[in-house]
Amino acid sequence: MPLGGHVWPTAKYRLVAERLSAREEFQFEEPPLAPWDDLALAHTSEYLDKLRLNTLSRDEIAALELPWRPEMADGFRLMVGGTCAAAAHALRDGVAAHIGGGLHHAFANHGEGFCPLNDVAVAVRKHGRRSAIVDCDVHHGNGTAMIFERDPDVFTFSIHQQHNYPLFKPRSDLDIGLDDNARDDEYLAALAGALPTVLAHAPELLVYVAGADPFEGDALGGLKLTKEGLAARDRMVIGSARRAGVSVVVTLAGGYAENIGDIADIHAATIETLLDASLQKA
Ligand SMILES: [Zn+2]
Repeated sequence: MPLGGHVWPTAKYRLVAERLSAREEFQFEEPPLAPWDDLALAHTSEYLDKLRLNTLSRDEIAALELPWRPEMADGFRLMVGGTCAAAAHALRDGVAAHIGGGLHHAFANHGEGFCPLNDVAVAVRKHGRRSAIVDCDVHHGNGTAMIFERDPDVFTFSIHQQHNYPLFKPRSDLDIGLDDNARDDEYLAALAGALPTVLAHAPELLVYVAGADPFEGDALGGLKLTKEGLAARDRMVIGSARRAGVSVVVTLAGGYAENIGDIADIHAATIETLLDASLQKA
């Protein structure tokens, strides 16, 4: 889905797939569009009607911060379908990744910040398992936090840059807001301190929202993680979950570095770490 000169480099998804295709252990599958009934698991019927009938208001379109066209609704339904399919594979096989998704700024009744639909929320509701969401995008997972605010079966955790979008951060079950320019050591220490709390929830499924935008030099992020630091982050999240016997599904979320190759490197490395963890386990 080309977005013209938009800051979201949608070409990254193809680049990630190309990098991963070098390893024969990966099996690729194209997901279906998520049915509208599935979307209703996390979104209100009033909001879905606006997407389906193209009756979003000017303000609602402005909040998306996308060059919105009505046919883009199906593109985002495909994003949701990918996370639902990957979650099903993860519950069956232990691990799976969606080369897409992580649209954590979508709420039940509106979308914002490039996120018309919340793929993670739909997938978690669809599979109905006790779940934890580990959101490591540089931006707070506001929509996801709000959707699961009163759901005791779903533990939401967000580690993000505190002074960044979104301005209003509804409380997750656990939030860590890092200072501007936080580096690898500070990030990894905070994450290591939080993961035992996440796993104490005893989830069957862990959804890892593996944003590439904590990377130093990201255009929309203000943290200073290196590629090595991000890889250590991936090993920590995935390794701790797998050692606890928890199924892991990866979604990619944000990534706005100047060099799209860096973004693809970071995302591909996350999915390779997932594969390596499953091979070690086997
Ligand atoms: Zn982000």
